[in-house]
Amino acid sequence: MSGFRTGQFNREKISPFLRRFCPKQAVTSILEIHASDMVEGGKKLVMLDVDNTLLVWRSEDIPESTLKWIESMRAAGMQLCILSNTRNPGRLDRLAKAMGIPYYLGKFKPSTEMYERALKEFGVTAEQAIMIGDQVFTDILGANRTGIDAIWVKQMAPVDFIGTKVSRLGERMLRRKLYRAIMEEPVDGEDADLPVGGTAAFAMLSNPTVRQFIKFCIIGGTSMVVDLGIFYLLMFVMPMGDALMSERLGAWLVEQSNFFVGLATRENVFDPKLACVPFFKPISAGVAILNSFLWNRRWTFRIRGREHRSVQLRKFFAVALIGLILNTVITTGLGNVIPGHPKRSLFAGQLIATVVVAFWNFFGQKLWTFRGAKTH
Ligand SMILES: [Mg+2]
Repeated sequence: MSGFRTGQFNREKISPFLRRFCPKQAVTSILEIHASDMVEGGKKLVMLDVDNTLLVWRSEDIPESTLKWIESMRAAGMQLCILSNTRNPGRLDRLAKAMGIPYYLGKFKPSTEMYERALKEFGVTAEQAIMIGDQVFTDILGANRTGIDAIWVKQMAPVDFIGTKVSRLGERMLRRKLYRAIMEEPVDGEDADLPVGGTAAFAMLSNPTVRQFIKFCIIGGTSMVVDLGIFYLLMFVMPMGDALMSERLGAWLVEQSNFFVGLATRENVFDPKLACVPFFKPISAGVAILNSFLWNRRWTFRIRGREHRSVQLRKFFAVALIGLILNTVITTGLGNVIPGHPKRSLFAGQLIATVVVAFWNFFGQKLWTFRGAKTH
């Protein structure tokens, strides 16, 4: 694991997204962690990972240095326990007994389950505990999720379980980002061996606009379900007397004007329900846009309070309405231009329109509707 850096981290220096992976400190070996520092820091319980933290993965030999270190912790009054993701409970049991340390086997880290169980059973608070481990995505992330400080130890040997090898790759990608929080001057040329694609993916995910866009698209998906669901209910479920509401209303509409007769006739089949579409669609689309507005305001753009809410709502509707028109124009326009079977070209047109409109809506809402809004 080349390029591993040690030191204290200031988690406030990096984004909340990265912060959850960030240890409080990184060391080359547990031997650099001193019992006196633990006592001074008000720690009472040391939670330990086993493999590649206390001893080499798969090995049954506990290094003499590890045993001495454990003794020094005990002598200072520290309580110790092991949180393990092992797939070999027999070996863990032997090792734990040899070290005289109780262990937890449960929902795999980074689940908070084992951490919380240990806190409860040892009767200490999260602040009084510390987690020591060699893996960011299990040991460190789990500790941070439970509110426990974590010390990241350089893995003892470059041998790992195959699944761990995969997460090591992620760690390498993440490392450079985490090192921004380290409280020392960065070294030039660090991590020059990082895979470019992976680094780019992490850089993208740690970009707030990209994360906002992903949230925006997720909410867009739920709004589509809301839209289709309400439209379906209005058209095919809502009763009125002994018939469907859409049939009653449609029958009345076609009596009023030939325009509705035209709407209700499709490919020479007359169905009065279809005359209701111009009335039902705005209802379902309107509720869907309202759904998008509320969730995007709160979740994507993190705006709280009622200030400017009605102005924002009007702008949001305007952007969404233009998006709707764009969608129709692009879909029909491209449907006629893209060669191939009409159904397929319409589908391709719809796909392109969806992507274009997603960007239109996102940037419209971000840069106009919610521009300069106070976030929390
Ligand atoms: Mg480990």
